[in-house]
Amino acid sequence: MGWDFETDPEYQEILDWVDEFVREEVEPLDYVFPHKQFDPMTPEMRRIIDPLKDEVRRRGMWATHLGPELGGQGFGQLKLALLNEILGRTLWASVVFGCQAPDTGNAEIIAHYGTDEQKAKYLRPLLDGEIFSTYSMTEPQAGADPTLFKCRAHKDGDEWVINGWKYYSSNAKTSTFLIVMAVTDPEVSAYQGMSMFLVPTDTPGVNIVRNVGLFGEPINEGYHALIHYDEVRVPADAVLGGEGQAFAIAQTRLGGGRIHHAMRTIGWAQQALDMMCERALSRDVAGSKLAEKQFVQGFIADSYAQLIQFRLFVLYTAWEIDKYNDYKKVRKDIATAKVVMPTVLHDIAWRAMQVHGALGVSNEMPFLSMVAGAGVMGLADGPTEVHKVTIARQVLRDYEATDGMWPTEWIPGKIEAAQQKFAHVLDLEVGNL
Ligand SMILES: Cc1cc2nc3c(=O)[nH]c(=O)nc-3n(C[C@H](O)[C@H](O)[C@H](O)COP(=O)(O)OP(=O)(O)OC[C@H]3O[C@@H](n4cnc5c(N)ncnc54)[C@H](O)[C@@H]3O)c2cc1C
Repeated sequence: MGWDFETDPEYQEILDWVDEFVREEVEPLDYVFPHKQFDPMTPEMRRIIDPLKDEVRRRGMWATHLGPELGGQGFGQLKLALLNEILGRTLWASVVFGCQAPDTGNAEIIAHYGTDEQKAKYLRPLLDGEIFSTYSMTEPQAGADPTLFKCRAHKDGDEWVINGWKYYSSNAKTSTFLIVMAVTDPEVSAYQGMSMFLVPTDTPGVNIVRNVGLFGEPINEGYHALIHYDEVRVPADAVLGGEGQAFAIAQTRLGGGRIHHAMRTIGWAQQALDMMCERALSRDVAGSKLAEKQFVQGFIADSYAQLIQFRLFVLYTAWEIDKYNDYKKVRKDIATAKVVMPTVLHDIAWRAMQVHGALGVSNEMPFLSMVAGAGVMGLADGPTEVHKVTIARQVLRDYEATDGMWPTEWIPGKIEAAQQKFAHVLDLEVGNL
């Protein structure tokens, strides 16, 4: 029997330390340096944050998703899931633990596809937490359907020249390099005709035109860049993983990114449920505590049920990734976790907000950012609808059409088959009468 829902005691001890460390030491960063986790560190920030990172390293918990050859522990995805659900409660925690999006996914593909020179130049400082990186794939006119991408790179002597537009390139304003997906051969199918380039952000011609923000952030001060690549020249060896490999690389990149978001979302949704329960037990209305009202009990029960199903499914999917060591084999379940995630977060945050009354919709509680976060989760790394199509296609692979007029489970057909199967006995019974 291989099923086991227990965390091994040694790792549980580490998780208990992480839980306390995040609550006591990391969560306060969200209030002194709000939304600054991808900004270059000021000396003041360094004085506070560097010792926290050192402590994480000392405990062996820095970048644990990576193998030992890259400075991590090689813990794999299941242990990362148990860690990430704790880190997901705060904005700063994944940066302090060296496993923040989008850098984890970017590091993964450089580790997998990069040359030794590319690894030395980009991967090492990324893993050391000294720089940030950007994944620049979506374009203003196309996101969900990459076959419509237009950003083009052509060869000129020993160089590639990149021209085009990219949209929602997260953290470009503070990142040191960009991974840019561009059409290199328009004559073949998009699946073979695009390549990935490693481009230092300060290369002439990389023009950040706007820094798009999310709901509530000031215009043009967000972290999701609209970039115009205008005659951007990079050397021939800036190609990542070989010409025409962009699609294959993107699948590796996005598989990991999607499940990591799901892991962190467990923690965020749990935080909403915790707040809902605390408020329900604390607030009196119409002669009793909110916790005694059946509507509120329904909110709590539905939220718990959604969260526990989601959590177990994400842990199972992480376990599958470790087992197969191949995102493609787990594509259906990664897509399923991705599809379920926004609804779970939205529903629980929405109910928690409602239980808090007017305070809940104020900017003094985090519920509306959670609800907006659910919207983001339904789009970042691909929209829900596209993932549903993937799930359905994969599910349908295990089925075949019937030849005849009636479905296999048609009851009259089943009765006839059963009567035929036992005809010899049934005939005897009849004969005895
Ligand atoms: C916070 C955030 C961060 C992001 N960071 C990055 C980043 O770092 N790098 C990057 O390259 N991109 C990034 N993105 C972009 C993200 O990957 C795209 O938004 C996503 O792929 C969808 O593309 P789109 O926005 O152009 O929507 P569109 O492609 O225009 O799709 C719009 C809607 O159409 C529907 N739809 C689309 N295709 C189908 C279909 N086949 N069947 C049915 N319905 C469909 C869906 O409802 C979809 O939401 C980020 C997005 C967000 C919100």
